[in-house]
Order: sequence, then C-alpha cells, then structure tokens
Amino acid sequence: MDIWNPWHGCHKISAGCRNCYMYRRDAEFGKDSSVVTKTSSFDLPLRKSSSGECKLQNEGTVFCCMTSDFFVSEADGWRREAWEMMRTRSDLRFTIVTKRIDRFYVSLPPDWGEGWDNITVCVTCEDQENTDRRLPVLLSLPIKHLKIIHEPMLGPIDISQYLASKRIEQVICGGESGSGARLCEYGWILATRRQCLEHRVDFTFKQTGALFRKDGRIFRIPRRLQMSQARKADIDLYFGR
Ligand code: SF4
Repeated sequence: MDIWNPWHGCHKISAGCRNCYMYRRDAEFGKDSSVVTKTSSFDLPLRKSSSGECKLQNEGTVFCCMTSDFFVSEADGWRREAWEMMRTRSDLRFTIVTKRIDRFYVSLPPDWGEGWDNITVCVTCEDQENTDRRLPVLLSLPIKHLKIIHEPMLGPIDISQYLASKRIEQVICGGESGSGARLCEYGWILATRRQCLEHRVDFTFKQTGALFRKDGRIFRIPRRLQMSQARKADIDLYFGR
C-alpha cells in the first residue's frame, strides 16, 4: 500500500471530523490545518528515481489524499492535473476517501465517461445522517468501484438499501483514535457485518479505536493494538466478487 498526498489541509464538515487525525498531528507542530496547500509530493505518481524507475511501483492500492479531502474546494484548480496523473498511471489502483462526494463533478476530466478501471471512491459514513446524505449521491455517479468506510463509527447504520444496489464492493468499519475518542460499540460493527453478509458484500473490521465496548465492558485500547485487536475478532468477510 502506498500513500499519495497531493495536497494538505482541510475543513471540518461533519461529526466524523471532530477528532480529525490530520488536525491532531498538525497541532503537535503548530501548523494550521485549515490552510490547504499543494504538497511537495504533488507529482509523486509521475516521479522517477535516478535509475529511471517510477517511485510508485507497488501493484497494490495507492491511497490518495490522506491528509486532506480530494474534493476540498481549494484544490479545484489542481484536481484536473491529479486526475491526469492517475490516468497516466493506469498500472496503479487509486483509492480516494471522501466526505465531499457531492463535489465529484468539479474539475472532473470531460472524457471521464463511465469511470476509470483504476479508480475506487470510498465514502465515509460515520452516522446515519451522513450515510443517507452521501450514499444516494455516490450511487448516482459514474464510478466503477465503490466502497464505504464506517469510521469513526459513531453509531449503528442501516445501509441495507444501499448494499442492495450491488455496486458497493466493500464496507470497512473502525472506531476513533486519539485521547478524545468517542466510544465504538462492538454491536454496531456486528450489525454492519450482518448487512454485508446478507448482501454478500466484503466486510473489513479495520480497527477498534481507542475506546471500545464489548459485552458491556469498556476497553481503552492503545493505538498500537487497535488494528491487531480488530484482526483477532476474525469477522472479516470476503466473497471474491
Ligand atoms: S474531511 Fe477528513 S481530512 Fe477533512 S477535516 Fe474531516 S476528517 Fe479531516
């Protein structure tokens, strides 16, 4: 897995943003996270080493914009070039995680058509309100690969009607990290898993978050154990679609 951050900085727009990881990291360095700037890695997909090899060679996924939102408005003037780099690197699979799916068409290449094979768009659904706001938009768009991330999980969500579309390839669940983390309830995760099982959609329990309740007991889980504890639950689903 590679990460490509063409720009940095963002604005909090919904409940899931409250303890944004990027804001917390920037605060440690006294940096203003609300200022959106192009990064020095802007053209990373096209960069080559001195021996002429592409810097991004991994055949796995390249996660895009992990310290911003790909569709943040300040990046409208840069996004077309970013799309072109992803088109050029059709040998890589790019995943874009966003809370701004309503801005999908801004700066989209005119020949986008029905979407590109190497682009996956993953929409964050932290609670039911944002699920019902974002997923109808996502499902109306010409995108070949769609995913949902239910993280930070702030409550149970009913996504059955969206999974029934057969267009969602995977649902990822996880709690919230950081000292101010909100509680994640194992029952919510199982409820999402049940819906995925019913609709035969891949499901991944990515991490517990820092404050986790299971069987009525609340656990404080250090960051280094949050992913391994989720793996231990052994509840992922893979249908090989
Ligand atoms: S959209 Fe993402 S990057 Fe932007 S403030 Fe919210 S959590 Fe942070």
